[in-house]
Amino acid sequence: MPQGHIARKRFGQNFLSDPNIIRKIIEAIAPKPGEHIVEIGPGLGALTVPLLAACGHLQVVEIDRDLIARLKETYRPEQLTINEGDALKFDFASLPAPLRVVGNLPYNISTPLLFHLAAYADRVRDMTFMLQKEVVQRMVAEPDSEEYGRLSVMLQYRFNMARLFDVPPGAFKPAPKVTSAIVYMQPKPASECACRDEALLGKLVTAAFGQRRKTLRNTLREWLSDADFVTLGINPQARGETLSLQDYVQIADYLALRS
Ligand code: SAM
Repeated sequence: MPQGHIARKRFGQNFLSDPNIIRKIIEAIAPKPGEHIVEIGPGLGALTVPLLAACGHLQVVEIDRDLIARLKETYRPEQLTINEGDALKFDFASLPAPLRVVGNLPYNISTPLLFHLAAYADRVRDMTFMLQKEVVQRMVAEPDSEEYGRLSVMLQYRFNMARLFDVPPGAFKPAPKVTSAIVYMQPKPASECACRDEALLGKLVTAAFGQRRKTLRNTLREWLSDADFVTLGINPQARGETLSLQDYVQIADYLALRS
């Protein structure tokens, strides 16, 4: 194990060890002096070291006390601001904006973490993450595909996203069982995510994908009658995965205006 640390499974610890992959990730981030960058899960510093070299100061959020102790021994406070604790509970609004968020994320919490971070989109310039490849495929999926679901719709509402490149298990120690991928996320301008009731949008999407085999008439019956489907021009026999982001926003806006 690198530098004597025993990787903790419960914290999703797979440490990057391939210098070429690390270089490619740093090139994708292209950190510049003076930028406000926060790294989630710095671990043993595979990305932290080159990020610091490029930008001089870095914020990190780390949950593992042993790793926090190492970071404190290695870096001066003027180089590294260490936010100790769970990134899922961390208030990213407490950091200076516009914020660049980066990280080789712990896979076991990646979906809730993406939803947590989406709430800070208005303070974020961009986000570059390593995630399980299947999760990235779901994030960027188009309607009518197997991967398309709640994660796709809710993140595509807030972000433009691109899958940059895949990373094989051998790039990590210990090697994970799955292939990873790098995703780049940029918040959309406010004018492009102007749903009148975002909480309702979230509820509709959750319901529509909750039972994938059921028709919209069934999954959205709490909100829409057959007459509503006609007004909206949406086929009630269709399934949730056939609707685009725009369709979901249209339904939420229609309901918000009606109430
Ligand atoms: N950045 C390092 C690298 O690329 O080698 C480590 C990546 S490792 C996949 C995930 C890191 O996130 C670990 O350092 C782990 O301790 C940390 N971590 C796990 N769960 C966390 C949480 N809820 N909040 C903050 N950090 C967390």
